[in-house]
Amino acid sequence: MTKNTPEIVHEKQEKPSVVAPANGRLVDLFARSISYLRVSLTDQCNLRCVYCTPREIDEKLACGELLSYEELLRVISLAVGLGIRKVRLTGGEPLVRKNVISFIDRLAAIPDLQDIRLTTNGVMLKTYGEALFAAGIRKLNISLDTLKKERFARITGRDLFDQVWEGIEWVQSLGFSPVKLNMVVLRGVNDDELLDFAGLALERDLQVRFIEFMPIGESTIWGKEKYVSSDEIRQRISVLGEMEEAYSHHMDGPARIYRFTKIYGAEGETPKGTVGFISPISHKFCEKCNRLRLTSEGRLRSCLLSDRETDIKAILRGGGSDEDIRQALVHTILNKPRSHTLLDSEQAGCQGRMSRIGG
Ligand code: SAM
Repeated sequence: MTKNTPEIVHEKQEKPSVVAPANGRLVDLFARSISYLRVSLTDQCNLRCVYCTPREIDEKLACGELLSYEELLRVISLAVGLGIRKVRLTGGEPLVRKNVISFIDRLAAIPDLQDIRLTTNGVMLKTYGEALFAAGIRKLNISLDTLKKERFARITGRDLFDQVWEGIEWVQSLGFSPVKLNMVVLRGVNDDELLDFAGLALERDLQVRFIEFMPIGESTIWGKEKYVSSDEIRQRISVLGEMEEAYSHHMDGPARIYRFTKIYGAEGETPKGTVGFISPISHKFCEKCNRLRLTSEGRLRSCLLSDRETDIKAILRGGGSDEDIRQALVHTILNKPRSHTLLDSEQAGCQGRMSRIGG
């Protein structure tokens, strides 16, 4: 076990009496319906963002440590059989995993899996955009923390801003929708670009989402002084115009979405996009959380911010039956914490690495 590997809590797996009721919904102990699985396809990434992927610790999982595509498809099919309806592929950078498109083709063939989405840093969208579209993916989240080329290179360790921007324009031209841009806001690093990002949502059909920085993993440059709350962000971008909360569908996740109803200095113009706020720290959304995660190491995790995991790889590779896998899924869901405890104490935080958990 490496320093960064969270301790796995193996709990006795008792057969729960009612978990997947006849209506095909997976419900946890707090009456949350769990329908969304996030899968980290790989811990590897082609960027080295200062707050996410450690530059100094360059260890990655060996190939055999990742779940194979067959193993992933088996777990996901069984999860869908229990009530999962939406899958997001993430990582690490999901598009760096070999043969990812043929995997997505096979994923899309799982009956009852209604929605497959992808989170990417955008570096390979020019290469894979058309193939992703052909595989049936329409909804993309693209991470972008700056619109400045030099700053992009400083934050990510790679001089690839132009390539990412071209990728964003390319997927929009192909018809992906919605395209969501995710910006992690870091005080003193990129918070001087809040208006530029909000301005993008006025000019383009994009959902620009501001994410609160979270203390995750040893690699993070986390410090309370770098954290900017959603309320502050909203207040700062309100100089651009008046906003009202837009309807956001439960399946669209925890973001609170706003639309500009009046643009100062350009009254009468209609904004093309929307802005969103993801506030895991300032406005916990745990009571609405419908997520389960499968880490790149093959562990089930019921909360991004809790290091409690179930080792599904051991079950798969130990000859576990489909019923054993179903029970592990159910067990993980039954142990989903009511709410995360991040920042409840000075020591609080999660040690798991974002790229392995799947951001
Ligand atoms: N490579 C893909 C990408 O860049 O979108 C997927 C993986 S990345 C880990 C997923 C998201 O997690 C990114 O938007 C990244 O900015 C975000 N992230 C990573 N560390 C974070 C942290 N400490 N706090 C908030 N968001 C974080």
